[in-house]
Amino acid sequence: MKTKVYIIEDIQKDDKAIEEAAALIRQGQLVAFPTETVYGLGANALDGQAVNRIFEAKGRPNDNPLIVHVSKKEDIEPLVLEVPARVYTLIDTFWPGPLTIILKKAQIVPDETTAGLSTVALRMPNHPIALALIDKAGVPIAAPSANRSGKPSPTTAQHVIEDLSNIIPMILDGIVPCQVGIESTVLDMSGEVPTILRPGGITLEMLRPILEDVRVDETVLKPLTKGQSPKSPGMKYTHYAPKAKVIIYRGTNLDAMAAEINRRAEEYVSKGKKVGILATDETMDKYKKGHLISLGSRKAPASIASSLFNSLRGFDHIGVDVILAEWVEEKDEGLAVMNRMIRAAGFHVINVSS
Ligand code: AMP
Ligand code: MG
Repeated sequence: MKTKVYIIEDIQKDDKAIEEAAALIRQGQLVAFPTETVYGLGANALDGQAVNRIFEAKGRPNDNPLIVHVSKKEDIEPLVLEVPARVYTLIDTFWPGPLTIILKKAQIVPDETTAGLSTVALRMPNHPIALALIDKAGVPIAAPSANRSGKPSPTTAQHVIEDLSNIIPMILDGIVPCQVGIESTVLDMSGEVPTILRPGGITLEMLRPILEDVRVDETVLKPLTKGQSPKSPGMKYTHYAPKAKVIIYRGTNLDAMAAEINRRAEEYVSKGKKVGILATDETMDKYKKGHLISLGSRKAPASIASSLFNSLRGFDHIGVDVILAEWVEEKDEGLAVMNRMIRAAGFHVINVSS
């Protein structure tokens, strides 16, 4: 299948392209589209057959549920059994935005969308193209990230083309790279205690004033122990992985961390390996060997988050064999950065003592 790529400069001017995309969604087909987090691969969330096409196109294990996107806050009501009072406060504060909320699902949401779970994940994205597409389609849109399963999530239309060209019928290109750059925060509000299952652009620190009892699920930074089943099925899979092997160096002393990375880089280079170093603005000038990419300043974790996936794909383009990555502090957006980086590294973390 030949993939049509439509550049959307302005949702009014490019109304016809969005209308064509919406018609595809209504017909049970797939469309990739930009959101403020990453590009999504959308299908009609209420059509099990359409949703199955998403799993096929991505090569996604079908026990990994999808997030359902709406264009109006009130559109979640028919999709769930009930909306607890404090969920209204959350959505009034953070929607449209990078916060996904899990609630008990209503019967009209098919099992394909929720991978058989009795709960459904819901979000209203903060992107004019996404909102216009959902609105015109007239149905909620189930959309995971528009990458082949296991790869870093796409933050530009070019990334989607790399992964899904000739596999899906249409890509809407929003021109500007996705601003948040990592996937939404997944917050489980279906039980007694609000629980962050996946950290993202809406941080623990931002949620706490509204949900003082909010907790972070232990699997966010740790691998599952044998036999443990995750509350968020997506967390058990290898994720966000570039072609190269990734190793994280963790320590509080930046000089010691950089020295250890330099030592390992030297070793790899002497064995004829191509090395990538994922650094930060504060440490850039400490490195001597290898291809260097800075994620941004440690003082601005949101900008580190927004450049993470593009940097991992960047190393794939250079064709490095190994990526030596600096740890960043797990607070604010840093928690989401480390949640992704640790999975990209398959939990390979080396502690550097100072
Ligand atoms: P993605 O669509 O690739 O951003 O992944 C969606 C994430 O949300 C995955 O980690 C899923 O496991 C998680 N998720 C979606 N629906 C649910 C649900 N009903 N309960 C728990 N986690 C969910
Ligand atoms: Mg994904």
